[in-house]
Amino acid sequence: CGYVALIGRPNVGKSTLMNHLLGQKISITSRKPQTTRHRILGINTTETGQAIYVDTPGMHDNEKRALNRYLNRTAETTLVGVEVIVWLIDGLSWQPYDDLIFKKLEQAGLPVILAVNKVDKIKDRETLLAFFAEAQQRFAFEHIIPISALKKTNLQQLEKLVMELLPERDPIYP
Ligand code: GDP
Repeated sequence: CGYVALIGRPNVGKSTLMNHLLGQKISITSRKPQTTRHRILGINTTETGQAIYVDTPGMHDNEKRALNRYLNRTAETTLVGVEVIVWLIDGLSWQPYDDLIFKKLEQAGLPVILAVNKVDKIKDRETLLAFFAEAQQRFAFEHIIPISALKKTNLQQLEKLVMELLPERDPIYP
């Protein structure tokens, strides 16, 4: 069992993913504030292990604003104690701001799974492959997985990958 942070710009599908990952398997359903650092979204129990999903404060692109700088520092602090990061991007487009998030995640030095969401919207295989090749080049993380949070495509593979990257521990909930 270990801590997994879910990161991504607004509207990339974080809530949709959480609802489906935790939906039927959730042990703790409430959005409990546990520590000042981590807000627990839920615990995902699978055959191969457990993951505690936590929220991080949003990251903001305009660092000229003091509040945004503060929120970004807070987000970086939040990553302390997390063992795996799942970073969601929108499969149809990314924003320059994603490049900034990428740099910050690289600096965090943790295993990152890049989940390219909303692939159900990409109709033809060629476009999907081209997008994927570009994403791999641009965000050179070892683990990159196409998903559709909405259609639940590849979510089991994502869960499996999370479990593989988490250190082995005894379960804390049955
Ligand atoms: P959040 O702000 O990152 O939590 O994003 P939400 O989960 O609220 O999703 C934003 C919008 O994108 C909603 O209208 C979702 O229905 C939609 N959405 C999320 N995941 C997918 C997906 O895999 N495919 C499609 N087509 N839409 C999605």
